[in-house]
Amino acid sequence: MLHPGERRDNARLTLCLTPLLRVAAAAGTIAFMQVPAQFEYERASSVEHALALLAKYGPESRVIAGGHSLIPMMKLRLARPEALIDVNELAELATIEVTGDELRIGALVRHAELLASEVAGGLFPILHDAERVIADPIVRNRGTIGGSLCQADPSEDLSAAFTAVRAIAVIRGEEGERTVPVRDFFAGPYDTVVGPAELLVELRLPIRDGLGSAYTKVGRRAGDWAVAAAGAALALDGPDVTEAGIGLTAVGAPRFVAAEAEDFLRGGAATPDRFEKAGTIAAGHCSPAADQRGPADYKRHLVATLTTRALHLAQARAEG
Ligand SMILES: Cc1cc2nc3c(=O)[nH]c(=O)nc-3n(C[C@H](O)[C@H](O)[C@H](O)COP(=O)(O)OP(=O)(O)OC[C@H]3O[C@@H](n4cnc5c(N)ncnc54)[C@H](O)[C@@H]3O)c2cc1C
Repeated sequence: MLHPGERRDNARLTLCLTPLLRVAAAAGTIAFMQVPAQFEYERASSVEHALALLAKYGPESRVIAGGHSLIPMMKLRLARPEALIDVNELAELATIEVTGDELRIGALVRHAELLASEVAGGLFPILHDAERVIADPIVRNRGTIGGSLCQADPSEDLSAAFTAVRAIAVIRGEEGERTVPVRDFFAGPYDTVVGPAELLVELRLPIRDGLGSAYTKVGRRAGDWAVAAAGAALALDGPDVTEAGIGLTAVGAPRFVAAEAEDFLRGGAATPDRFEKAGTIAAGHCSPAADQRGPADYKRHLVATLTTRALHLAQARAEG
């Protein structure tokens, strides 16, 4: 997540930060900055303590979780927090559990823990599909779910996956707790609705009978960021689609959502023709940028193919 003074660099960040090494080539002077500026460091012992520390140090303080995104940004001087609030000891944010009709995933759950969770993978296979293709074991062992969402990188796989299943983000501040649909969580590239004195504490995923979900991604090599990716969630009533969720990664879909394709699918039959048409609609409404991962037309083609593929897989899983 960027703080106000850093937002002006969004455009450059979008171009450069993924992958981070490209920053060095693209951003001139920062290429030689490999040491963070000085900062204060505090280790939080509870959520309340973390919130008090954020309030104490003000808007130039930052939460640090896995540090896989924030530390490289600090080394490259793309972020210069005056204080880091370490939340790694907050075990209360590191649980995965079913409560009522929701799967609740704490913000401090590591990628590897989500991938190892049978309950998460059983209810929402899309999460395991996505986790299997996120980075490598080093990143997955340390990087957190909360850090991934709060980083709000347009190429972040979990953002599209949580979008597809209509997850709810739980955000806590000193004044109390609020809930925000993940679809309203992202304010732009590298920007979210989490305030400087707030913490993302949990993701809640509504459990629904007969929901099938899947995530498909094309990267240049194993463990790389997406060239393009698509996640789909389908609820079926016999042959008909009662609800459809489609999240797109790295292709300039507003808030990661393929809303027009979802609208097209809802209420119609779950047929190969309609899935293909939904893929075409999704491709027509996103805005991929040409970069070192490929030209825009190629990415658009991938969106059509991957969306269709994810829908087929989600249907097969919904039908058991
Ligand atoms: C080499 C490499 C390859 C990668 N490949 C992929 C990939 O293929 N796909 C993919 O999706 N991701 C990939 N990632 C990104 C990675 O999955 C996550 O972005 C990263 O783990 C962020 O999580 P973190 O816990 O390390 O966050 P941090 O770096 O600690 O924090 C990131 C941001 O989130 C904020 N933050 C963290 N937690 C909270 C919270 N609870 N509340 C409020 N703000 C918070 C921080 O202040 C900071 O602004 C890759 C990362 C690396 C280093």
